[in-house]
Parts: sequence; C-alpha cells; structure tokens
Amino acid sequence: MDFNDTPQEAEFRAAARGWLDSNAERLGPDESPTGMAEGQDREDVIKSSQAWQARKADAGWACITWPKEYGGRGASSIQNVIWNQEEGRSQTPPNVFGIGQGMLGPTIMAHGSEAQKSRYLNPMLRGEEIWCQLFSETAAGSDLAGLQTRAVREGDEWVLNGQKIWTTGAQYCRWGMIVTRSDPAAQKHAGITYFIVDMESSGIEIRPIKQINGGKSFNEVFFNDVRVPHANVVGKVNDGWRGAITTLMNERASIGGGGGSNGFRELMRLARETDWNGRPALQDPYVRQRLADFYIRSKGLQYTGYRTLTALSKGATPGPEASIGKLVGAPLSQELAGFACDLQGQAGSLMEDDSSWQSSYLGAPGIRIAGGTDEILRNIVAERVLGLPPEVRLDKGIAFQDIPSARN
Ligand SMILES: Cc1cc2nc3c(=O)[nH]c(=O)nc-3n(C[C@H](O)[C@H](O)[C@H](O)COP(=O)(O)OP(=O)(O)OC[C@H]3O[C@@H](n4cnc5c(N)ncnc54)[C@H](O)[C@@H]3O)c2cc1C
Repeated sequence: MDFNDTPQEAEFRAAARGWLDSNAERLGPDESPTGMAEGQDREDVIKSSQAWQARKADAGWACITWPKEYGGRGASSIQNVIWNQEEGRSQTPPNVFGIGQGMLGPTIMAHGSEAQKSRYLNPMLRGEEIWCQLFSETAAGSDLAGLQTRAVREGDEWVLNGQKIWTTGAQYCRWGMIVTRSDPAAQKHAGITYFIVDMESSGIEIRPIKQINGGKSFNEVFFNDVRVPHANVVGKVNDGWRGAITTLMNERASIGGGGGSNGFRELMRLARETDWNGRPALQDPYVRQRLADFYIRSKGLQYTGYRTLTALSKGATPGPEASIGKLVGAPLSQELAGFACDLQGQAGSLMEDDSSWQSSYLGAPGIRIAGGTDEILRNIVAERVLGLPPEVRLDKGIAFQDIPSARN
C-alpha cells in the first residue's frame, strides 16, 4: 500500500486543483459539500448542475476517463479518483449525470453503433441531455435477467410493453436505456434486447415514488405500446445481456472504492458542540465508546479503500473484494447518522433539510440496496473471494417462458 501520489499523480492533482481553485469555491478541511441526493429533481438544481458540467466540458475536465475521441481526456482510473477527490473538496452542484456518464455512455462506446456514438455521447458528456437506467422491474432486481418487459418487432420499429421501477431521474431525463424480453422462448439470459429510448415517446407514463425522507428521486415507468426505432437497438437483437453486463460492471466500479469518511469528522464536531447534561457530549464515556467504534470501522474502511486505490495506481483492476467497500460503508453510514440523531436528543426526531443527519439516516437503507444489496454483495464475497460453493440455480437450460413464476 502506498499512500503518496507518484510524481505523475502529484502533477495531475496540481493541474486539477489549479483549475478548480479558479473555477469553484474551495471547502475548508472540516466541511463537506452541501447539496445531497435529494432536491436533484428540482429544475434550478438541474440547471446549475448543467452549467457546471458545461464549464468542465469547455475546459476538458468532463468525463475525464472517456477516450479523447468522445471528448474525454483518456485519463486512468487513478487520475479519475484524484479528480473526484479534488472536486469533492470544492463546493459544486450535485452531479445528476452519473448514470449516463458513468454507466450508459461506456455501454454505448462498447456496444453502440457509430451513429449512436456520434448522436448521443457529446450531449451526454456536456450534460445537455440527462439519461436514466431502465433495468429493475417489480419482480426483477437482484435477479435482473428475470425481466419481463416485452419488445416485439414490427417492421423498422419495436413495440414495448411493461413496467420498470426505481428508475432514478426518469422525470427529468431526456433518454433512457432499457433492457427488454424480445424472445421468451430463449433461455433466461438470452432473448434480451437492449434499447435507447426517447423518454418523451408517447405511451411512457412516469409516476414518482415518494421516499421516506420526503424525496422523489426515483419512479415507476410504464410502457404502453411505446414505439422505438430499430436503429436504437444497442448491440445485437437478443444479445442485450452482454450490454447489460457492461452497464452493471461500470455501476459496480463507480460504487466500489468506499474510502470516504462516512461523516465521522462531522460526527466528532457534533459531539463537541452538543451539550449533554451541562458538558459536551464528547466527554460522556458512552459517547466516547461509540465514537471509538465508529473511528475504528471508518479507518478500516479507509485503508481497505486505499488497497483498491493502490491497485488502480499500479494499473491493476481491483477484484471482487472492492464489494467490501459498500458492504461495510453503507451500514456504517446508517449507524453513524442514527447515532448523530440520538446525540441531538428530541431535536433528532425533526428533519431540517436535505443535507441533515436525519436525511442521511433515512436515505441510507437505499444505499444498502442500490447497485447490489448487502446480501448480494455477501454472495459475491463468499463465492468469488472466499471460494465457497455457488448458489443453487434452478433456471439453467430452461426457456424463459417455462421457468415457473407468478405469470404461468
Ligand atoms: C436509491 C436507489 C436507486 C435505484 N436506481 C435505479 C435505477 O436508476 N434504475 C434501475 O433500474 N434500478 C434502480 N434501483 C433498483 C435496484 O437496482 C434494485 O432495488 C436492486 O437491484 C434490488 O432489487 P429489488 O429491489 O428488486 O430487491 P430483490 O432483488 O427482490 O431483493 C429483495 C430481498 O431479497 C434479497 N435477495 C435477493 N436475491 C438474493 C439472493 N440470491 N441471495 C440472498 N438474498 C437475496 C435481497 O438482498 C433483498 O433483501 C435503485 C434502487 C435504489 C435503492
């Protein structure tokens, strides 16, 4: 493990910091960026995110890992980490482009036609068009290949019918990428076709889902006879699983890492500033014990994250052990935010705004589900890190339409 930048990394960091210093407000050592996940569906928030994205694009700091031919700078993964660390120390609008730029853009680059690359990638990079991922269904989440939204070909078009759910940002996205069942007679992972879909098409109905923390960041999306041109197929007909895997690999890579502070520093500040029975909560033995526990786990997580960074810095690909970052980090954030609410006494039951401890506490279960639930991540660690026997699969070698389910 090497904690220091190489000379090349230090040079890159200085260039990134230099540009950010002249273009964004720098945060103090104990400050975190405001503008949390919620509120991202507000028009003013989206506009300011788009303005920031365009500014980065003009200066060559947008989607830096994208190849130069698509407007990126062909940066390495470790350079991307450095850029994210530096941008994270600046007060910038929330990033509403992650799904498109981090997951769907790379999928179009890997599997899309030349016409798709030239039409969609540049407005995606500049933040002019925002994208959503239409994967999950009510009965297909962890087991995504169980998806049932139907696609039937009619001449030069496809007709889509079905329902997606948990679609982040569908209400403000211009484009989506959707996986559909195009051949139910094929086996489960075959017979899937991947499309780019215009979210303004007739027959698409978007219904927001109200979350426990008051936000409405994701939606149910209904498809009723939605017509999609054949030119919007990504990859080959009935071979959409290949593209879906590319999207999911990029999702996992963007979530992995997990070397962040999880709010520990902010919690320490709260413990110092909160009065408990006439003295700072920090002086209470029970509070100190809890803080020590959080500190140990945060540090363990941080150093595990450094292992991933070291692998990236040496040009290696981090293995499935990177799953540990989210598996440990998300429950830790939840517990830490819950304890912060406890420290606030009765006031802890009131939620002030989107960036409060209360909002983090209520949003944390979602993080434990999105991009692989705790249980799925444990399966990955068990099977691919510890080498334990894989789960029993009863759907192998069977046509999708013959797999027993609620529909047959
Ligand atoms: C904040 C957030 C944003 C999201 N954004 C999007 C989006 O933009 N687009 C999109 O398509 N989807 C999105 N999702 C959906 C997300 O991908 C799914 O919620 C996730 O894949 C889990 O699927 P599920 O909800 O259907 O739960 P299920 O897969 O039904 O799981 C239910 C429970 O069973 C457990 N379980 C399932 N299979 C196994 C197994 N094999 N072994 C052990 N336990 C198991 C799970 O861990 C879980 O506890 C989002 C979800 C969240 C929370």
